[in-house]
Parts: sequence; structure tokens; C-alpha cells
Amino acid sequence: MTSPSDRPTAVVTGASSGIGAATARALAGAGFHVVLGARRVDRCAEIAREIDGTAVRLDVTDPESVSAFVAAVPECRLLVNNAGGAKGLEPVADADEDAWRWMWEANVLGTLRMVKGLLPALVASGDGHIVTVTSIAALEPYDNGAGYTGAKHAQAMLHRTLRGELLGQPVRLTEIAPGMVETEFSLVRFAGDAEKADNVYRGLTPLTAEDVAETIVFAATRPSHVNIDLIVLKPRAQASAMRAYREE
Ligand code: NAP
Repeated sequence: MTSPSDRPTAVVTGASSGIGAATARALAGAGFHVVLGARRVDRCAEIAREIDGTAVRLDVTDPESVSAFVAAVPECRLLVNNAGGAKGLEPVADADEDAWRWMWEANVLGTLRMVKGLLPALVASGDGHIVTVTSIAALEPYDNGAGYTGAKHAQAMLHRTLRGELLGQPVRLTEIAPGMVETEFSLVRFAGDAEKADNVYRGLTPLTAEDVAETIVFAATRPSHVNIDLIVLKPRAQASAMRAYREE
């Protein structure tokens, strides 16, 4: 696969829905050739057609899938580590090890594999950029969320460590830490229970995937010497992971 034009290439993981899909569209609007990766590659292909991008199947929890994906991306200016999410919302005393393992694999090791795979191309571009979508769960703990907050803290540490390790290399690093965003996130967290998922956003106006995508495009379109280290964005009605104002 080659970049179909002289547009710089951006890779977006988890581009089949939510923040990733909105980011793919927004980056295409900003002039990038976007390579969309996710397990539901049919959804990525639909968006790729719309934005003149490229869809490649990707399971970030599978090293072979990541290798095949990386082999299909000969050049890369921007990597958006967005694939991930949460499973379950239980106290530590009731933690489900399989759910914790999935959260670690998807958010932490998935990001690690993508960075290792694409770092040579990012450096070779002469103007690389790694954006990682962590969460306010990477900034604070919340009750019943330790599997997710633990994984997001670890993902953030990986990302923030690179900021120092890559000093002197032409690669910028931006962490995006959103609060509540209405996507498929809660549906995945609650294993398809739509009522529980809807309840998360009850009585307030959450962020949209597009709100987050716009901040990513902002960071990605600053001049090369400007590194936006961290953007935290939340709905106005949300003060912290555990504190929100809801209209009854
Ligand atoms: P979403 O709509 O559920 O999107 C998650 C995306 O990740 C999907 O495209 C999914 O695609 C992909 N994904 C999951 N497992 C994957 C795997 N093994 N390999 C490749 N792709 C995988 O939720 P979202 O809100 O947009 O989430 C995007 C990111 O934002 C996540 O990292 C999440 O933790 C973070 N975040 C979300 C919120 C929120 O409130 N929504 C807040 C803060 C941070 P496939 O299922 O097709 O593979």
C-alpha cells in the first residue's frame, strides 16, 4: 500500500466507531491520508471510502495482526493510539480477571505494540507525532473502576515516558484525556446493556466524539516545534470522574 497522494499519512487505531471514527474524518478534513485500523474492518472501509483513506484490519491485542498492519503502512507522520476501552465496573473485591486482562491488552500492550511497530516510520518522516487517547481515568482513581483506571494510568505512563526518551528525535507526543464522551464505550463496558449505558449520560450533555477529534486535529496541526503535551477535556457538567451535575 502506498500513500495515494502527497498527503501525509495518519494512522488511527480503533477507527471503526466513536472517537476514532470522528478523528479519522477530522484528520482527512485537515489534509491527511488516514489509515483506519480496527477489528470491524468493514466499518473502517465504509469511512475510508467516504474520506479517500485506507482501511486495514487491526487487532491491537494480537502481535501478528499488529505486524501485518505495520507492514501495510510504509510511511507514517501521525499515530493516534485510540483503540481501547473498559470492561465492567466492579469493586476490586469482585474484579473479573479476564476483563482486567482485556483492558491491559487493549489499552496498554496495544499502544506499546503500535508504538514499537510505527516508531521507525514516524522518525523517518522527519516530523512524527504520537497522540494517545488516555482518559481522566489516567489522572485519578474512581470507585469500581480500578481495572480501567489502572490500565489507563499504565498507558499514560508509557506515553509520557516516550516524551523524555524521544527528546532529540523529530517526534511530538500529545496525550488527550477526555471525561465522558457518548460513544459505544459504555455499551462495551456493560456488555451490550443499553439501559446501563444510557444511564451514564443521564441528565447531562456529554462530549461528542467530534469534540475530542477537534482537539486531536488542533494538536496535530500546530507548527512542528510546538508540542501540546496534554489536553484534558470534560463536559461542563462533569468536575471529575466521580462528580457530575445531572438535571433530574
Ligand atoms: P468506542 O466507540 O467503543 O470505540 C472503541 C474503538 O476501539 C472501536 O473502534 C474498537 O473497534 C476499537 N478497539 C477495541 N478493541 C480493539 C482491538 N483489540 N484492536 C483494535 N481496535 C480495537 O469507544 P470510544 O469512546 O470511541 O473509545 C476510544 C478511546 O477513548 C478508548 O481508548 C477509550 O478508553 C477512550 N476514552 C473514552 C471515553 C468515553 O467516555 N467514551 C473517555 C475517555 C477515554 P473494533 O471493536 O472494531 O475493534
